[in-house]
Amino acid sequence: MIHLKTFGGGSAEGRAKDKALLGGKGANLAEMASLGLPVPPGFTITTEVCRYVMDHGVGTYPDGLTAEVDAAIGQVEELAGAKFGDATQPLLLSVRSGGAASMPGMMDTILNLGLNDITVEALAVQSANPRFAWDCYRRFVAMYGEVVMGVVAADEHDEPPLDVILESIKSKHKAVRDQDLTEAALREVVAALKAAIQERTGKPFPDDVRTQLWGSIGAVFASWSNPRAEVYRRTYNISATLGTAVNVQAMVFGNLGDDCATGVAFTRNPATGTAELYGEFLTNAQGEDVVAGVRTPLGLPELEKILPAAYADLVRNAKLLEDHFRDMQDLEFTIQRGKLFMLQTRNGKRTGKAMVKVAVDLVAEGKLTQREAVMRIDPAKLDEVLHPTIDPKARPPAVAKGLPASPGAAIGRIVFTANAAEEWAGRGERVILVRTDTSPEDIHGMKAAVGILTARGGMTSHSAVVARGMGKCCVTACTSLRVDAPKKKAMFVGGGKELAIKEGDTITLDGSTGEVFLGTAPLVPAQLASELGVLMEWVDSFRTLRVRTNADTPTDARTARSFGAEGIGLCRTEHMFFQPERILAVREMILAPDEAGRRAALAKILPMQRGDFAELFRVMDGLPVTIRLLDPPLHEFLPHTAKDIEEVAADVGTTPAVITSKVAELTEANPMLGHRGCRLGITFPEIYEIQTQAIAEAAAQVAAEGVVVLPEIMIPLVMVDEELRRLRALVVRVFDGVLATTGTKLAYTVGTMIELPRACVVADRIAEHADFFSFGTNDLTQTTFGLSRDDAGRFLPAYLDGGVISVDPFVALDQDGVGALIELGVRGGRTTKPGLKVGICGEHGGEPSSVEFCHRAGFDYVSCSPFRVPIARVAAARAALAETPK
Ligand code: ADP
Ligand code: MG
Ligand code: MG
Repeated sequence: MIHLKTFGGGSAEGRAKDKALLGGKGANLAEMASLGLPVPPGFTITTEVCRYVMDHGVGTYPDGLTAEVDAAIGQVEELAGAKFGDATQPLLLSVRSGGAASMPGMMDTILNLGLNDITVEALAVQSANPRFAWDCYRRFVAMYGEVVMGVVAADEHDEPPLDVILESIKSKHKAVRDQDLTEAALREVVAALKAAIQERTGKPFPDDVRTQLWGSIGAVFASWSNPRAEVYRRTYNISATLGTAVNVQAMVFGNLGDDCATGVAFTRNPATGTAELYGEFLTNAQGEDVVAGVRTPLGLPELEKILPAAYADLVRNAKLLEDHFRDMQDLEFTIQRGKLFMLQTRNGKRTGKAMVKVAVDLVAEGKLTQREAVMRIDPAKLDEVLHPTIDPKARPPAVAKGLPASPGAAIGRIVFTANAAEEWAGRGERVILVRTDTSPEDIHGMKAAVGILTARGGMTSHSAVVARGMGKCCVTACTSLRVDAPKKKAMFVGGGKELAIKEGDTITLDGSTGEVFLGTAPLVPAQLASELGVLMEWVDSFRTLRVRTNADTPTDARTARSFGAEGIGLCRTEHMFFQPERILAVREMILAPDEAGRRAALAKILPMQRGDFAELFRVMDGLPVTIRLLDPPLHEFLPHTAKDIEEVAADVGTTPAVITSKVAELTEANPMLGHRGCRLGITFPEIYEIQTQAIAEAAAQVAAEGVVVLPEIMIPLVMVDEELRRLRALVVRVFDGVLATTGTKLAYTVGTMIELPRACVVADRIAEHADFFSFGTNDLTQTTFGLSRDDAGRFLPAYLDGGVISVDPFVALDQDGVGALIELGVRGGRTTKPGLKVGICGEHGGEPSSVEFCHRAGFDYVSCSPFRVPIARVAAARAALAETPK
């Protein structure tokens, strides 16, 4: 087992590639040190040790670790020219967490370790700045008290007790900011903090520096398992068994005076992707001050004015690191007496918009190949780019403005605590979490909310970073906002006015401008950036899988075409039946006592359907259009409330009692497995005849207009090949009849939806009558799992939370079970017809991992909702690239 690796003084034992062992932070500290960047010396205790501790219990370490830590500290002492615990030249350390995947702010960090009543005096003498020494000491005692000794708030309405002590001493001394506290006041703070720790834990704050060190190492390992880290890992599918590393590092000080600072920088703007060094800092401060959003920090252009030499170094290092890692970096730095130190670098979290722009720009700059750029795209994150924004032409006046921390528009009802956000969202409400500032403890609430609004914080505060990672709209530093969370209300103040808001009120956030609106603002579809077009060209050059759309209306079809859809993979005819002016004719058809009655009603529906299909064909000129014949159980179209029943009875000229009894007659115990799909076509062939006639006549009509029509008629829910044989014959008879009468020449195909396990098993026989298969994976998932989607809500969440299953099979295709049946079906079908066209038209057709599966399974196309078309295109390209050598 490897226990630790050291870094500093221009070299390092580890490298960036060692993330699994050293964590992202430790691996990149090593990489920066080896590149010769100014990194304070230190060492990283490995994730292997963390896993050992998880297995053997808190405080149990592998043999030999203590000696190795002592030796590594000796090395740091030498490089730093100071001694740990020394009474004249004390070395101070930071103890920092960091696992393989970045989890910003989710675990603990302790700064200024090594201070006690003796070393603090030495630091005061050595720095010639007693105020600074005591500022470090009070910070250390507070962090140690919270993180290691567990002196924290009882619940989310309580202020952290050690913060309360600081604030009360500040107000006693009339100090507005932390920096305004004098040495004497800071001494008072330290004494009060120690007393509170003793009182609350029954244990004294430890003076011995090695006790402090091991206490902190233990606490950082333990912070791997804290609740907020667990929520974060669940959100991002990070395994709980990986563990964190612990980085022990010499301190550098941003709080020694006004020529000192600490800050965060991104090598590109993480919200928009613009190529500019983008960041924030505070002078005379320590790290957590910036990221915790306690004070609103300054923008980097100010740093250039205040500390130009350090700024120039930062610009140089930023470029060097971005070029080295060939990706946008998120940097943490501290300036001590004018000298810059690099404390962290990682690939920066970014919005979907920035993801696309950075990838495309890096290719233009010659740093990435097109192929690498496509592999950098997280297809699911494209969703954000396609989201609607607030209508620029109908913008209501804003009631407040903050920083545009994460773009997009969010409309929701206000809640003031993370727990409330989770609770309300659980009831299906869209909520906006409104806080003075968010801390990492709020992660579950941020996850539940559609948007986040905070009074404090900056563009790089935890809330902003986490929100961007989640693709959630976020506005921070809304300085006119005053939140009273316990009373569930807040106020916007300014211009001598006050505007009250309370829990449950609806507001709209614009994360792209930082504006806040009362009520619901009007939205318009997203404006697509030109970079997306460039990226999609590369995507299309790599993919082999075609992408179609599920569209029932010309509007949907038009949207999908603008997103690059290459045809319609599923048009559900029943949606056309529901329109108010048609439902009556549909009901007449269902209520008709005999075939003649049904035909009479269908004759009324025919011209309407013909019109729909004609328009769809025109929109999809030159592209295939798959139309599914009627699928749902008939009773779905019938009225159910007393009022509706009366209306229908009057409309069709009968009594409510007749309607009621017909509804009862049509009601099934389990409609999902009942009289639906092609079973309707078998028992009431006239329904499928009329639908086919409408399709064929529409096709003939638009073909005459010069439109290229490629109709594909799809028969749903086939369970035995005989169903398809008969219905195919019916379709061909009617279609050919129309073509003959109208004198039209055009090719059409007839295929089936595969959505029953049996159909997968006998696919070879079904294929005899099919020109194509389209896997209906929503129903195939239901029938394979024996699980009704409408009833799954009762227990599926518990299955997911409890880890019985890891993903919802209705979201991501179950490749082991449903996928195996699909593969069987494809094989069977292509045994009979080698060229059989195969597609998918369930919701899975737009989910990246499912699209990748379809590529591997040899599909010709996937079909998904219009907004997911670009996502499916990217996923298809990534799947193709993944299997071709570079
Ligand atoms: P997180 O993972 O939450 O970002 P870090 O371990 O990066 O936690 O620590 C947070 C901040 O603490 C850093 O950004 C930095 O400003 C400060 N910090 C950490 N180590 C040191 C150090 N050795 N010297 C000075 N500041 C430090
Ligand atoms: Mg950090
Ligand atoms: Mg179905």
